[in-house]
Amino acid sequence: MALAHEQLALACAACHRCGLAAGRQRVVVSRGNPRARLLVIGEAPGAQEDAQGQPFVGRSGQLLDRLLAAAGIDVATEAYICNVVKCRPPGNRKPTAAELAACRPWLEQQIALVDPPLVLLVGATALQGVLGIRGGITGLRGQWRPWGERWLMPILHPSYLLRNPSERPGSPRALTLDDLRRVRERLTPLPAPL
Ligand code: SF4
Repeated sequence: MALAHEQLALACAACHRCGLAAGRQRVVVSRGNPRARLLVIGEAPGAQEDAQGQPFVGRSGQLLDRLLAAAGIDVATEAYICNVVKCRPPGNRKPTAAELAACRPWLEQQIALVDPPLVLLVGATALQGVLGIRGGITGLRGQWRPWGERWLMPILHPSYLLRNPSERPGSPRALTLDDLRRVRERLTPLPAPL
């Protein structure tokens, strides 16, 4: 049975299932609306997220929020944002396969809690952590994939978009905005979140 939102946050905060617990300041569980129809899954907390206890609040997260807003998606009401790993890896390295596996039950709880029809996988590590697919994010981005009763779309990670600031047609940023507009289209026929 799915834990309630507050129970889940408390249980995560006490977790020591993997070695990342030793170096964290805060366990980073989620932000946004637990009743949203869109679940956004990223990689792992960075320094800002570790300090504030919220996912995607650093430069990458701010860019993601701007792109979601430009596509007409309101994060506070229409999305629930989390990561495949809830504690910051040292030096912002990629989480290991063992860390992804250790943290997976928390992600499963979040999916059960939100029960979203639409899921965005932000970047290659989210793609690996959720679907077990290594590499290929560039070719897979923007494609809807059935995932049980849900629809899932990988998109490029905003940290990559920060390194590629062009917004010309066909640029990574422009492609990502196109992808998010297609998410908007798919969200629109669904009833508004409570
Ligand atoms: S990363 Fe996940 S599994 Fe590891 S200690 Fe943090 S919450 Fe627990």
